[in-house]
Amino acid sequence: MLQGKNAVVTGSTSGIGLAVAQELASKGANVVLNGFGDAQAIEKERAQIEQQYGVKAVYLNTDLMDAKATRQFIDDAVAALGGIHILVNNAGIQHTDLIEDFPIDRWDAVIALNLSAVFHGTAAALPYMKKQGWGRIVNIASVHGLVASTNKSAYVAAKHGVVGLTKVTALENAGNGVTCNAICPGWVRTALVERQIEALAQQRGLDTEAAARELLAEKQPSLQFVSPQQLAGAAAFLCSDAAAQMTGTTLTLDGGWTAR
Ligand code: NAD
Repeated sequence: MLQGKNAVVTGSTSGIGLAVAQELASKGANVVLNGFGDAQAIEKERAQIEQQYGVKAVYLNTDLMDAKATRQFIDDAVAALGGIHILVNNAGIQHTDLIEDFPIDRWDAVIALNLSAVFHGTAAALPYMKKQGWGRIVNIASVHGLVASTNKSAYVAAKHGVVGLTKVTALENAGNGVTCNAICPGWVRTALVERQIEALAQQRGLDTEAAARELLAEKQPSLQFVSPQQLAGAAAFLCSDAAAQMTGTTLTLDGGWTAR
């Protein structure tokens, strides 16, 4: 389905991004991996993608909190793969605090990575996509791009921003073969959420699994986590021909979170 296509997935050394990169590679796309972590573990994932799916997989360790570096990252990805057809803006971080206690540097960091990096990556990728008349931009937003929670001002502001940016990107490119959509996951049990489960466990004196159940019960009616693989399937769908007329919209996988 994606043979001959080149895909860049930001923040793909773990969690949702890694599952998306694996899924796109399984459909035949060459992939650029990005993010931080243990160098040996990253090389193992990269090599396994090449071996398992017979595609090219390249790792670029760019820090996407830096605007100029993010734009250069897209050019480096194009140089490494020979082009870019798919950009999945997935890299993200979380920080929780009340607004009045929220450290300025944490606000700046969350906005830089979760929102500004989406803008810079998109801006750098669009000229390539427009020139070839085909492109798919998939922004991993969040239910927090649609609704709010306490203690997450920067994250909620950034993710609402991503949903807005998704719509502008879609409108500016409508009809030219480039689509842009956002995926809005509810709770997914990745490193980003594991830290929140641990914090809740400590705060309430619960064991980890009881805290995980509590976290789900508060927001997610299914009481089950969304899996990275389910989100990867949604991203692959947005890259398929079936989704060619789908643009500027959100695909929500949240176990019912935003239904109530
Ligand atoms: P994760 O912590 O497992 O993965 C985050 C990835 O981003 C990692 O590869 C990490 O190395 C990379 N990264 C961090 N800082 C970076 C930087 N400065 N430059 C480049 N890469 C960087 O988290 P995840 O849960 O897989 O999150 C992926 C995306 O999904 C995020 O945008 C997050 O907001 C979103 N999301 C997650 C959940 C959830 O419940 N886990 C829910 C909704 C949305």
